[in-house]
Amino acid sequence: PAQAPLLSVRDLNAWYGESHALHGVTFDVHEGEVVTLLGRNGAGKTTTLKAIMGILAKRTGSVTFEDRETIGLPARAIARAGIAYCPEERGIFSSLSVEENLMLPPQVKSGGMSVERIFELFPNLRERLSSQGTKLSGGEQQMLAIGRILRTGAKTLLLDEPTEGLAPVIIQQIGRTIERLKAEGFTIILVEQNFRFAATVADRHYVVEQGKVVDQILNDELDANIEKLHAYLGV
Ligand code: ATP
Repeated sequence: PAQAPLLSVRDLNAWYGESHALHGVTFDVHEGEVVTLLGRNGAGKTTTLKAIMGILAKRTGSVTFEDRETIGLPARAIARAGIAYCPEERGIFSSLSVEENLMLPPQVKSGGMSVERIFELFPNLRERLSSQGTKLSGGEQQMLAIGRILRTGAKTLLLDEPTEGLAPVIIQQIGRTIERLKAEGFTIILVEQNFRFAATVADRHYVVEQGKVVDQILNDELDANIEKLHAYLGV
């Protein structure tokens, strides 16, 4: 029998105040997988990550993680269960140094990465150790944001558009990092606009449209489905 999913999202609905943003999102992620959420602007990808994380607290449906229902839990309890979220805006503290930013997050699980290990993944950061957040390039900020969540010890990562606005060489570096994390057994849900990038790192893609998952495409079948995907993404 197939292994039970690590994360299982069922009929997830979520609201910003009175505004109903997710209309029954359903998908699964297995341990060690890299899965993307693809879709147009405003489709509900970011909202899906926030609702899984409990940052968007007004939600219904079911999100089980390691067979445990998380829908009633506050964000800090979901973080403690071992899920970490890296927001699109990255959330780097501009007045703190790289090292201080890395030291901020609490360890929620044993086995959080050491600063040394993070510098090994992102050598650029080592050189910028004492630089203030404001002095970093966009790529360095993104690396710092990912490095920071690796400190927590969470093995399930929600990454919101890590490649946005970055140069191709930096995007490649982020792609290699995702591959290394996958090889170490991390599970990653990636929100992406850049499906060419998504295709280099992901096992499967879920298409989000109007607050729902409307399709699933295996990465191996992406080429055969490219026209369909273009239609979904409006490219
Ligand atoms: P993008 O790439 O533009 O972030 P997305 O697929 O991640 O696209 P969401 O940001 O999840 O889309 O937005 C889904 C819907 O929720 C949109 O209709 C958006 O206008 C709405 N929305 C997002 N954030 C808020 C908010 N803070 N308050 C009210 N509505 C919001």
